[in-house]
This record gives sequence, C-alpha cells and structure tokens, in this order.
Amino acid sequence: MPEKINRGGISVDTEHIFPIIKKWLYSEKDIFLREIVSNATDAITKLKRLSSLGAYNETDDKYLITVSLDESEGTLTVTDNGIGMSEDELKKYICSIALSGAVDFIQKYESETDSSASSGIIGHFGLGFYSAFMVSSKVEIETKSYTDAPAVHWTCNEAGDYEISAGSRSERGTSIVMHISEEESEYLKASKIREMLNKYCAFMPVDIFFEEIGNESDSERKPINDTTPLWQKQPSECSKDEYIEFYHKVFNDMRDPLFYIHINADYPLNFKGILYFPRIANEYETLEGEIKLYYNQVFVADNIKEVIPEYLLMLKGVLDCPELPLNVSRSYLQTNTYVSKLSAHIVKKVADKLNSLALNDREEYAEIWKDIAPFIEYASIRDKKFYERVKQSILFELSDGSVLTSDEYLKTAPEENAKKVYYTTDKALQAQYISMLEAKNIKVVLFERAIDVQFASFAESCSDGIRFLRVDSNIDETLKGASDKIENEKLSNVFSSAIDKSVTLEFSSLADPAVPALLSVDEDIRRMEEMMRMYGIAQPTPPEKKLIVNLDSPLIQKLDSLCESDFDSASELAEYIYKLALLSQKKFTAEEMQNFMKSSYNILMKL
Ligand code: ADP
Repeated sequence: MPEKINRGGISVDTEHIFPIIKKWLYSEKDIFLREIVSNATDAITKLKRLSSLGAYNETDDKYLITVSLDESEGTLTVTDNGIGMSEDELKKYICSIALSGAVDFIQKYESETDSSASSGIIGHFGLGFYSAFMVSSKVEIETKSYTDAPAVHWTCNEAGDYEISAGSRSERGTSIVMHISEEESEYLKASKIREMLNKYCAFMPVDIFFEEIGNESDSERKPINDTTPLWQKQPSECSKDEYIEFYHKVFNDMRDPLFYIHINADYPLNFKGILYFPRIANEYETLEGEIKLYYNQVFVADNIKEVIPEYLLMLKGVLDCPELPLNVSRSYLQTNTYVSKLSAHIVKKVADKLNSLALNDREEYAEIWKDIAPFIEYASIRDKKFYERVKQSILFELSDGSVLTSDEYLKTAPEENAKKVYYTTDKALQAQYISMLEAKNIKVVLFERAIDVQFASFAESCSDGIRFLRVDSNIDETLKGASDKIENEKLSNVFSSAIDKSVTLEFSSLADPAVPALLSVDEDIRRMEEMMRMYGIAQPTPPEKKLIVNLDSPLIQKLDSLCESDFDSASELAEYIYKLALLSQKKFTAEEMQNFMKSSYNILMKL
C-alpha cells in the first residue's frame, strides 16, 4: 500500500512567522530547549492527570524525558513518554497554531528589536514549539498518542513546508528531532547542551536524562535535574543543612548564607520560594544578589530585579510564580500589580524573619547582625514601613562588646539621660569620652559606618523624642563634674592665644579629674557639616566647638600657677592641652600631626 502522505505549508498566516522567529529571537536562542523540554514535561503531566482521573490505566513504566545529542547526524532530539498526539491532534496543535493574533501582534511591533517583547510572543501565542526553528533547518516529530491512534511522523523545513506521514513509533510518547542548522553548530556541543539544561531544566518536575550518541560511556545514567526542589517542600520538612546545600549548589557560593526565608504563599498570591541573605565578605565585593524566577519549576529568568525592592537587592533566591506567564518581559514585570504585591509580601517576610530571629534566636541573630546592620539600616531609611516592622529588632553594638535593642539600651540609661543614645564614630579616637561616659554608667553605641549616623537622624525623625548624641557632643551636660562654670582670667588669657578662633572657652569641672580639657561639639551643627562634606558643599565656617577646661585637673592647677611665673611656658602648655583635646576628637592631618610631634618634643625637653 502506498504510504499516505499529507503535505501542507504553514503558510497562509505564517509567511511572516518563520523569518520573524529567526530574526527576532536571536538574542535568546537558548530558550528553544526549555520550550521543547517543557512541552515534553507538560505531555507527561497531562498523562499523569488522565491517569489520576482514571481515564488512563497507568502502566508501571517510569515517566522520563531524554535529550540526546547526535553530533555526527547533526541532531538534537527530545523524547518523552507522555500523552503523545494523534494525527488530528498534531494537525490541530502543531499545524494550525493560533497565528492570526500573533501575526497582528508581530506586524504591530515589527520595528521593535527588544528580545523580551519577542519572547512574550512566543509564550503568549503558544509558539513555544516553533522556537526549535531558531536553531534548526528541519524539525521532525515522531509521536504516538496514548490512545490506539496510529503513530504519526511530521517533518517541516525552515520555510514552513511540512509533510505528515505514518509514523514508526510503537510506544506512547513524542520525539522532537531538531536538525541543527549549519550556522548554529554550537548546539551540537555537549557542553553547551549541558549548560542549557542546567540553567533551564535543573528543577523540572520529570526526570531528564542527557545522552550523547557515540559517546555513551560518558552519558550519565542519572537525571540531570532535581524533580522535587526544596522550595516545593513544606518548610517543616526541610533541614537547615538542606537549605544551605541548596544555596551552595544553586548560587555557586561556597560560603554559608547568613539566614534564609522559605516562603510558601497561597491565596491570593500563590508563589513559593526561598530567599537567602548572603554573606558579603568585604566592601569590594559586588552587593548584587540574584533572584531566579521559575514557572512551575521551569526556569524563566535570572536576576529579576523587579520582584524585590532596590534596598533588598543583595538577596539571592529562587521564586516559583505560576501566576506569571512563562515568558515574562521586563516591562511586564515593571507594571504588573501582581509583581508589586509579590514584592510587598517579600519585604514583609524578610521583616518577619528578622523579628523571629531576634526574638527566638538572639545569640545567633546578634552574630549575624554585625553583617546585616548596614543593609537593614539602609532599608529602613528607604522604606519607613519596613523600619516600623523591624524596629524592635534593630540592634546596637556597644563599645563594651555587648549588643542591645534600642528599647533595651534606653532601659539601661540613667534617668537623667532618658531617651538619649550615645554613640561613637571611632572607638579608638574617642576612647577618652567613652571611658568617661562608661564611668557614669552610660553605654556607648558603635556607629562607625557612614550609614549609621544617617540612620540615627532617620530614627530620630520617626520616634518621639529619642535623641542620638555623639560622645563628644554637649558634654557640658553629661561629663561635667561637681563645679559649675567659673570665670578665670589668667587661664583665659593663656588659652585664648592657644586655641583656634572658632573655639569658645569654658572653665568648669569634668567628671574625670585626670582629664585637663575636652572639646564639646554641637551635635546638629556637626551632622550638618558632615552632610555638607558628603555632598561636596563648601563650608563657610567650621563647626562650633567649645573647649571645656577642667579646673579640677591637677595639670590645669599647675598651669594656673605657671601663668604668673612663666607666661611663655604656660602658653605652650595650654596649646599642648588644646592639641590633646583635639586629638581625642578628630583625626589629625599630616601637618597637624607633625606640629603635634614637635610640640611634644619641646615639652619633653623641659622635663
Ligand atoms: P504551548 O505549549 O504554549 O501550548 P507549543 O507551540 O509549545 O505551545 O505547543 C503547541 C501544542 O503542541 C501543545 O499545547 C501540545 O498540545 C502540543 N505538543 C507540543 N509538544 C508536545 C509533546 N512533546 N507531546 C504532546 N503534545 C505536544
């Protein structure tokens, strides 16, 4: 009996479609394998569903997909043992695709070259199968339906002319044979195919095997994918080790993450995912995280910035969102309301996680806080809602090594300092002030990063009355000793000639008699000056400073008597005391340091 051949051309509407598939999708050619393998997965899922509905009696075979590369034949074949197609189905699903809409769309956007728009077409109009033509000169389908319908063979060239004939397949399922075109020979390299499978198919829900024809010894007989990725499990079923191992594997980062969040949202958002807060080793390392987006375990895209607010971009993670189309474009993500809800949900989950760690695992939390602090402070400044959510879990590292929340800190403060938080921007430089405050039972917070002081201003603006003060600010209120301001003409004379013009003088007593003098700086003026410096705005005047000379200090008492006997030495000593005060308040420039050393040698000579 002569073979019945059915010829046709996917031509009426499709004159346009083939060149466009080739032309438009060049930048994302690799996705063809994802499309073909996910069709194979769908074919198996459909059969499983039929079987669970009792419409198909499952045999005991194992469902699987094989991707085989035959370099000598120049073919890449994807075979599944899924639902298969009868001739009618093949004609309906493959030959008469709903092209009219796609053609309209393509004509409308023909001038655009944005590849994300084109991948949108592929997904939207069910053209996934045709993406095989991006890399093939000819595509064959060998398929046999799970019903009694006979096997069918379909072959189609790159111009869109196809032939249907009787097929030779005896088992249920489908093979898609892609004859890789000459100019796309990179798709005949096993390493390239492996790389694509790892990227797009690593978590697909059916076992996928990769084989190289002619090199079978190398072909591993274990699936290349993990069909039950961690995010699909219930958080209660996953161990810490599993989360960490998953992170190492998926993000190629051998360090352990600082913490992770497993999200399992159903109604109304319906998405699953695991987010990791990475360990960031040093300031030179890129802070860019990585969010991998999946659609029912099929990889969609890397580095999806749109689903995470900018201030949490250091997060790494996987999100599986069956509500988003398989082919999403950036512009779609940017304007989609589902995506903004997703993003809000993620922010809430991050805040919840921080709060639960702070509450239930304080020791571990205090440990990771050191690494996450600048990010959480920055996130708070950027999003007040986030701050309101996490503020009870924001920790202060103290100069004595302990770590407290702001509430705990405020409880430790002596009554006269209620609502005041003292901080140092340089523990070593400001050690003098710190030790005097600590002697008064005032704890000092380490705010040694640039963001910390900005955070302090922000937190003040959100709270009722909490005031952050650097250890050297307003010290006439905190570090004063027993006596009040006193006039002292002699000392006034020697100090006036020793100090800078912008500095005012005050004679009083300080808490520690060993300290001859300290500088006090107005907190607000200093912050303003710092901000101006940060933005490169020239400063008209240096910040206001006050030199508080401690009349209880034996050194000042000695200086007082020296004023009468040897005014020159007294002036020299006053200047030196002023420099010492400056030294514990700010970093010296090279010139200032040299002058200071010179003065020190001179003073030593007088011993
Ligand atoms: P989509 O998958 O978005 O519907 P495709 O162009 O990728 O669009 O596929 C068109 C149709 O062809 C599918 O919906 C399916 O019915 C059929 N099909 C494709 N591949 C297979 C396969 N491996 N097994 C069974 N049917 C398939």
